[in-house]
Amino acid sequence: MKEAAGRRRQSAAASPCAACKLLRRRCVQGCVFAPHFPAEEPRKFACVHKVFGASNVSKLLQEMAEQHRGDAVRSLVFEADARVRDPVYGCVALISSLHRQIQSLQAQLALSQAHILHLRMRRTAAAHLASGDHITSASASSLSLEVDQTARFY
Ligand SMILES: [Zn+2]
Repeated sequence: MKEAAGRRRQSAAASPCAACKLLRRRCVQGCVFAPHFPAEEPRKFACVHKVFGASNVSKLLQEMAEQHRGDAVRSLVFEADARVRDPVYGCVALISSLHRQIQSLQAQLALSQAHILHLRMRRTAAAHLASGDHITSASASSLSLEVDQTARFY
């Protein structure tokens, strides 16, 4: 990891980072963009620049501690990429889509659990009928416990 960053810094001195290349300026030692926007990934910076503007991103990165810049850049790149793909909703479209998916899967899970419970109750009732037994209070309470456990998923 450190080795890769070191190599990146060396290559930054030799050739400009993706940001400086796009902005057509000299990539100086300690360039705030260089560690996060390597020359071999030009689209990352192009997207971020288009959506947020290079000077805003530069200010934002300079204002935060170095250890947080990597996360901030990942977030900026993700949001900028989503905004370029969907200019109206941006990453909100992705969040909404995932939210709908979660709701749909939770409904499917609840249905499956209700179905399992139904089958278990039928099997228990059939077993009691086959043995000529009445449903005892013990088996009835174990069934109601299952109903309670299933109800928690709704
Ligand atoms: Zn640079």
